[in-house]
Amino acid sequence: RAIVRDLTGVAEQNPALPPGRVPIQEVDPTVFETRFLRKIKDLGEGHFGKVELCQYDPRGDGRGQLVAVKSLKPESRGQLWREIDTMRELYHHNIVKYRGVCSEEGGRTIRLIMEYLPAGSLKDYLPWRKHQTDLKRLLHYALQICQGMDYLGSQRFIHRDLAARNVLVENESTVKIGDFGLTKSMKEDKSYYTVKEETDSPVFWYAPECLVDCKFYPASDVWSFGVTLYELLTYCETSSSPTTVFLEMLHPTQGQMNITRLVEVLMAGRRLPCPPHCPDAVYSLMRRCWESSPENRIQFKDLITELELLLD
Ligand code: ADP
Ligand code: MG
Repeated sequence: RAIVRDLTGVAEQNPALPPGRVPIQEVDPTVFETRFLRKIKDLGEGHFGKVELCQYDPRGDGRGQLVAVKSLKPESRGQLWREIDTMRELYHHNIVKYRGVCSEEGGRTIRLIMEYLPAGSLKDYLPWRKHQTDLKRLLHYALQICQGMDYLGSQRFIHRDLAARNVLVENESTVKIGDFGLTKSMKEDKSYYTVKEETDSPVFWYAPECLVDCKFYPASDVWSFGVTLYELLTYCETSSSPTTVFLEMLHPTQGQMNITRLVEVLMAGRRLPCPPHCPDAVYSLMRRCWESSPENRIQFKDLITELELLLD
């Protein structure tokens, strides 16, 4: 009798279902078909791939959902399946949601489908919102990034590419971490380091152990978070970006940035400066993320506590 009552409940909540029939999931909602995916515009391009806004419109009535679709550059494509498996496992308020995959050419190429965040990355968003964004809001963003990162760490993942360009804005009070799991194994990342001219060369977000030994620890993500916090406090302005400031410190020769020089500068204890109007308490948090040896760095859990104290 209880079962019958439950089924009646289901039918009542879903008036479209014929009475007496249990809903059966016949279609895998994470499988997207190419023919229903219509490109609307480009959203962005990064080191590994490009992201497009598409409408998924299987009914063909122009009312399908908007999704962000990521495809990888040919040389990185082999990685995408493993990365999709990673993203599938993650579920957190401050992590971009996985929606599914779309495979083409009989599975030879694959695209990652995720939720669409109209405001784009913090880098796209913050420079234009300087006047609407006070310190409290910036620290709230920082707190949310730490919460997402703490969760990621609890699932035994290391992001390896935490930066404002990879944090997406849901609305003025919520941000989400994206573009994780896309980093390649460190051996392949050799070429990654030599991409020097790029304005967003991730080397400036890397801790010394990553630059010297190509080793990534959870604490290496903390270092990158420190750089991301610096970006927040400078409103992601290009003129004071980590890349701009480090390049000034390094005096690159022949237009080439030298990783060895960067390591020297970091080992000598030099760090990004305190951004204008940044309170000492916030800058000292950055500095605790930038301790030379990973074991001396603050952890995400403590960053959460400290940021909550500052926000009180
Ligand atoms: P890459 O691995 O190539 O760096 P990202 O995942 O970082 O690719 O995406 C590149 C850019 O595309 C981001 O910096 C952001 O501007 C935009 N973007 C990525 N994902 C989304 C999304 N879900 N919604 C809106 N914009 C996005
Ligand atoms: Mg990116």
